[in-house]
Amino acid sequence: MVFINCIMQVNGLKDRAQDLRKSFIDSLEEDIRDFLINEAELHTYDDLTKVNPVTPSTVLKCLQARYSAKVFYTHAGCTLVALNPFQPIPDLYSLDVMREYHSAPQPQEFKPHIFIVAEEAYRNVQGQVEPMNQSLVYSGESGAGKTWTSRCLMKYYATVAASSQKCQDTVEKIERRVLGSNPIMEAFGNACTLRNSNSSRFGKYIQLQLNGSQLLVGASVQTFLLEKTRVAFQAPNERNFHIFYQMMKGATGKQRLEWMLPLDQDFAWLPHAEKTLEGKYCTSRMCLLKHEKRNLRRHLACVDYCSLSLFMLCAGFLQKTADLLQVPLDELQSCLTVRTLRAGKQNVLKLCSQSECSVRRDCLAKVIYAQLFDWLVTFINNSMCADRSMWCNFIGLLDVYGFECFLLNNLEQLCINYANEKLQQHFVAHYLKAQQEEYVTEGLQWSFIRYQDNQGCLDLIEGSPSSIFSLLNEECRLNRASDAKQFCVRLQKELSHNASISWDKFSKQPHFTVAHYADKVSYQIEGMMEKNKDPVPPELISLLQNSQDSLLHSLFADGDHESEGLRGHSKVVTVISKFRNSLESLMKILHSTTPHYTRCIKPNPDCRPLTFKREEVITQLEACGIVETINISARCTDCNFFGLFQLFCKCGLPIPIFDVLNVVLKRRASNSTLSPDDNNNMVHCGRTKVFLTHSLLEMLEVHRNR
Ligand code: ATP
Ligand code: MG
Repeated sequence: MVFINCIMQVNGLKDRAQDLRKSFIDSLEEDIRDFLINEAELHTYDDLTKVNPVTPSTVLKCLQARYSAKVFYTHAGCTLVALNPFQPIPDLYSLDVMREYHSAPQPQEFKPHIFIVAEEAYRNVQGQVEPMNQSLVYSGESGAGKTWTSRCLMKYYATVAASSQKCQDTVEKIERRVLGSNPIMEAFGNACTLRNSNSSRFGKYIQLQLNGSQLLVGASVQTFLLEKTRVAFQAPNERNFHIFYQMMKGATGKQRLEWMLPLDQDFAWLPHAEKTLEGKYCTSRMCLLKHEKRNLRRHLACVDYCSLSLFMLCAGFLQKTADLLQVPLDELQSCLTVRTLRAGKQNVLKLCSQSECSVRRDCLAKVIYAQLFDWLVTFINNSMCADRSMWCNFIGLLDVYGFECFLLNNLEQLCINYANEKLQQHFVAHYLKAQQEEYVTEGLQWSFIRYQDNQGCLDLIEGSPSSIFSLLNEECRLNRASDAKQFCVRLQKELSHNASISWDKFSKQPHFTVAHYADKVSYQIEGMMEKNKDPVPPELISLLQNSQDSLLHSLFADGDHESEGLRGHSKVVTVISKFRNSLESLMKILHSTTPHYTRCIKPNPDCRPLTFKREEVITQLEACGIVETINISARCTDCNFFGLFQLFCKCGLPIPIFDVLNVVLKRRASNSTLSPDDNNNMVHCGRTKVFLTHSLLEMLEVHRNR
């Protein structure tokens, strides 16, 4: 009734309404602009969609102002931007703050925080209409704060999803296990690099399992592409995985004796041991899992086998290595120095050159470490994963290595950057494409939003019939000595039609350059085929299979581990294929969940507290397409006419009512799409929906609540 009355009124006041409408919108825009131009207030904009105009430089200004005011989280429409303070901020993540966000009827009204995202996911997962699994995805370069965020969120859920009196015991146990898995996994999978003293060298997707009452009952973790080459090679000024240093520093006298660890030995593969901060960190944390102590001790002792290669650098340590591995000395020696070749039906033995011996030694260390890491992940999963009948939904936390571009890039960077392309595509598909399609359906012009579609780049990397991956895999299956130059020529022949690939004419090294969504990266081809094959000499596998140590034996006994001689060449499972498969299964999970994206930003390259370097930040903002995200989010709120009408009524704003009704009437009269005059920067009227900017909507909300 009210609606009809208003229409009648509006009919009579049509001309005046049009005038008022224009002046209302103009004055609103002016208000907002004035509001923004006031630089002293910039730090108060808790959503970047309020910045007007949205350009990299205005966004940067706003973030810098907030950072100076020690405000580290800012909404960017549908995503959250997290700036790393590089120093502990008192009370930002305390239990009280967690409870505050959790118990608020509308946490969105609080200051931007990672807990808003966490709480939104937690409430979504209950799904009033239909429960829906959730994924929290953090992206950002090395040192930006992804792992920190992941830890914070795990603590948040372990706190808010854990307070049932009835099952206090079980829940507490699960919380401890879930949180306790972090330091252990970081000890084995993180290392000190030039960019981050606790850099994750693997990707991780952890699913927190919730029962029907929204309580945390278990968790499972899936890992991706551990950088196992680090075991045997560290770039200058970088270190090996933390666990080696923790063992060296934290072992008791008895353990040293058991593992044959000398006290003051400099190990070639443990550079910069003097930087060790952690001491007994890992071993003491491990005590948290008391009832699994026995298994973990066995596990810890086994880790030491990985450092066997350190012993081997000096003659005389070979015996100790054989003892630790529990294999006969002569067999170990022959595995490392003699190659078995097949000539027809006969085996021919060939002595390895010195460099071939080193490759074998490195290979042994890497294969043990990689298997051990997988074993650890299985062990952790077994200890914290709930029975499928116990849980209904999950919240997934994805912490993967960010986009990488070094001076020299190889297969590892290609895989990492490929994973980031996939995530970017998922983000674009989820937010931008869906929005664009809706705009088209609503008969609205899309010209004001541009975003980068990275399908071309993904086709280049993984497409068929010909792509970088398919050609690399083909090369590995051909089982011939790989030639980088020839491969480069082949890439040029087969892929130069794709605009995302190029070659630097002046570079002497065989390479290819890929234009990723974040930046251009040049990959060197030398060594890439070998890394993709990742060959393990069959002699090494059978040596380990015959170890007297039960754990080591079991790691290799199942036959899962393929060595170069044991597998048929047509069936070579390359690093790329494995990585692609695991990423595909992750993407499938992500597609089946509601995603929440957080963009972590590293404000300076040296990890200095509270230091904001504009160039550093702008590059990262551009790389994640923040301006496009804000632009699209600024218009991503839609209301149906009636809903909007109600909202305007509640706000007690008569003029916009006329404005909207006027639009409705026009539409009804002409039964056609509205002219561009009907829209302006803040209101877009589609066929069935009105799209408002966040800033306009927020203003209306303020009026409504007055
Ligand atoms: P990588 O890709 O190398 O694994 P990352 O994005 O996971 O990097 P983190 O290890 O999470 O980076 O963060 C690097 C360091 O920054 C942390 O060790 C911590 O010292 C600091 N840091 C990150 N986020 C915060 C925060 N919110 N408050 C205080 N310090 C932080
Ligand atoms: Mg990390």
